[in-house]
Formats: sequence, structure tokens, C-alpha cells
Amino acid sequence: MRRLPFTLLAASLLLASGIVSAATAIPATAVKTAEQLRDRALHDDTGYRIVASLTTEVGARLAGSEADQRARDWAVAKFRALGYDKVYTEAVTYPKWVRRSEHAAIVAPFPQPLVVTALGYSPGTPAGGLSAQVVKFDSLDALKAADPASVKGRIVYVGYRMQRAKDGHGYGMGSAVRTAGPVIAAAKGAAGYLLRSAGTDAHERIAHTGVTGFRDPSKAIPAAALSNPDADQLERALAYGKPVTVKLDLDCGLDGEYTGANVIGEITGRKHPEQVVAIGGHLDSWDLGTGAIDDGAGVAIAMAAGKLIGDLPQRPDRTIRVIAFANEEMGLWGSRAYAEKHAGEVSQFQLGTDSDFGAGPVWRMSASVKPDARAAVAQIANVLAPLGVAYDAKRPGGGGSDLSQMHAKGMAALSLTQDGTKYFDWHHTANDTLDKVDPQELAQNVAVYAAFSYMAAQADGDFGSAPGAFAKDGTNE
Ligand SMILES: [Zn+2]
Repeated sequence: MRRLPFTLLAASLLLASGIVSAATAIPATAVKTAEQLRDRALHDDTGYRIVASLTTEVGARLAGSEADQRARDWAVAKFRALGYDKVYTEAVTYPKWVRRSEHAAIVAPFPQPLVVTALGYSPGTPAGGLSAQVVKFDSLDALKAADPASVKGRIVYVGYRMQRAKDGHGYGMGSAVRTAGPVIAAAKGAAGYLLRSAGTDAHERIAHTGVTGFRDPSKAIPAAALSNPDADQLERALAYGKPVTVKLDLDCGLDGEYTGANVIGEITGRKHPEQVVAIGGHLDSWDLGTGAIDDGAGVAIAMAAGKLIGDLPQRPDRTIRVIAFANEEMGLWGSRAYAEKHAGEVSQFQLGTDSDFGAGPVWRMSASVKPDARAAVAQIANVLAPLGVAYDAKRPGGGGSDLSQMHAKGMAALSLTQDGTKYFDWHHTANDTLDKVDPQELAQNVAVYAAFSYMAAQADGDFGSAPGAFAKDGTNE
């Protein structure tokens, strides 16, 4: 028997004794296959065909609407047609909200209609509409500081203007004005709530919907978003210094409970089928457009990535699990149900992230993994670098909007940040349609997801998923 060199022998003994643990690494053969997957994905239109199919055949998919069931049927059939090994659903129950009609107008001093859209969980106005004087605030902080006497019985208007940014960070405050603003206004006794749309399209007469923070229907007030030009118009009217009265006429509200489902497709792992790389997007959309960028694109990116891995001559070592989440838009319902159901298996989640920021190219990767897996993440970064993806080793990963909940339970997670420069021009509007998806940019996303998922599935070792492992930095991008 040949004698092992001392250092190797010592290392083996230390490993076997558990004194040191091996760093996670991705075998060279897997790196080579990932590079091939990446290059193949760039010249493959599967992702674009999937988002075209969903937005054409189903169209808008408001959670709990008639289209919700059609979207689930579509997803099950699409996973099967793409050759997934296992396709199943997991029920998700949530309050159903419906939008029937929405109108608004300045009643005095300059009568004219305004373009608005009701916000998720907004109640309707009384029959005949709600007319009240408008009180304006420039920011959420100004509303927070307001004397309730100045707000009581009025329609609160918050004119915060969202700024364009590649990483979309303006949406942090933009969405807070929409989610927290109505709750604060209601608590101060406001009769209704209006905001300048959380969108970067300064010149489009199109309003951006989105969910509010109302959770207790008895405390909710009618809430809607004005298009940016209509917000300008209201502000000009207010600048005359005379009382401005607006009439809101919203027919919308809660309509019982609904049970939908997360739809899941798997490429089953050959060696460790119980260990999963989790990717996905959300299947629901707002009702105004056809949900192409939010989030047909994300569903398509993940489905196409899994399909390309499934097309390889051999199944990957671990399972690729693609999750089309239910009802993200009205408060992460599918995501939270999923994390609750699967929290006990979090250690089996090798690595995960979902796509929910449109169809722009991925330009940055960050990760929340155990220190011993940093080298493997760097290997992934090397394969993604030719796609224009920069690795920021200092930022945590968040797992995307839906898988953020599994990350919070302890799943090791990436953030794959897309270019969101144009995203908030169309987000949550009637303009969220397929023409906004660039086929080549979508293919770049598929290349990123296919390459990273495959490398994670083939890694020697794990990325540190364990109950509560990442509680400290549970970012949510
Ligand atoms: Zn979304």
C-alpha cells in the first residue's frame, strides 16, 4: 500500500474527526457544464416563449380572480410540456380582493376628471362616491407628523416623487407611501387617501396600483393612486390656496376567502433528490396589464432555466425546484405559506433565489452563505462574469421577494440584482405588457439562473442552510 503524503493524511484525519470542515467546492466538470449551459441559454428562446404564452393565453392574473385558476392550469401544463419530472401544487388561502370600477374627479374649484387606480385592500366608497377636501403632504414623514385635526374627514394626498435608479431603491420610499401611508392617514381620521403613483414615468397618464398595508378591514379607508400628470394637476390646483374638493368613486373591496396554490415543478436530483436548489417567480399579477414584467418574466426565467438543466444528458446531483408562487402582490401569501410548510426542511435547501424585478439583465450578485461556501460562490461568479454580472462579496443575499421568507427561516440565498432603470415606468400599470420584455435580456437572465442552479446542484458540500442561520441579515430585495 502506497503511503499517503503526511500533509494529505493529516488533513484526512482532521476532516474525518470533524476538527475542520471542508470548504464547499464545485467540481471542474460541473463548472464546464455550467459554462455550456450559460452559452446555450443565450441562444435559446424558451424563456421568451414561456412569458409570451402566459401573458397571451392567460393575460392578467389577479390573485383570486377567474384567471388565477387558469394560470395554475397553465403552469401545470407548461411544466409538463417542458419535461419536468414532478409537477404538483400546494394550497394557499388568502382574503380575496376585487376591483370593479374606479373614478375620481376634482369637484371644486376646477371640476375635471382625474386618472386613478384603487390600491389593493382598499374598500369601496359609499354609493354615489366620497367627496372631501384634500390635504396635501410632501412626504410620509410630514403625514406622520401631522396633527390629526388637520386630517380628520379629509382626503389625504401624499405627493412623494419616486426617483429612477438602476437598483430601484426609490421604490423603498415609493412603496412605503403606498403601504404605510393609507394606514397612518386612516388612524388620524382621514376619509380617503391618494398618492402620487409610485412610478418613474413622469409623463404617462397611467396610474400604478399596488397593495396597501390595511390588514384590519374595519380600519381601512378608500385609497387610490393618481397618475403622475394627474398628481401634477392636483398640486397645481392646490397651489391656488383655495380649498380643493375631490370626489373618489371606487367600487372594490374584500370578497370572502379564496384558496389558490403555489405550482411547483422539479427536475429530480440523481444522487440527492431530497436536496433542492430553489428558484422561481410569482404567478399572480395585478389586473391592469398582463403581468409580463411583474412577474411573468420571473416565472419564465426560472422555468426555462430548469428546462435547460433537464435537457442535459444526465440529471443533476440535486433537485432543481421551480416554484411559481401564489399571490405575491397582495402580501407574499404564497411565499409565507411555503416557508411555513417547509421551514422544517430548510437544511435540505442547498441555495435559492427567485426573480421578481422585471426582465432587465442581471448585473450584480451577492450571497448569504456560510464562510466555507464563499469560494464556491466565487466559482459561480466566475461563470457569470462574462454575462456582465459583478460579484459584490460584501453585500448579503436576500433570496428575491418570495424566497426571502425561506431565507428568513435559514436558507442560504443569492441576490441576483436586475437592471431596474425602466422597471418602475411600467410596474403595476396597464403598461406591464409583453412588448417591455427584451428577448435577449430575458435570455441573459435564463443563462444566469441555469448556470448558478446547476453549479449549486453539483457542489461538493453545502452553502450553510440551517434553521435560523441567516436571521441577522434577512434582506429582502
Ligand atoms: Zn412582482
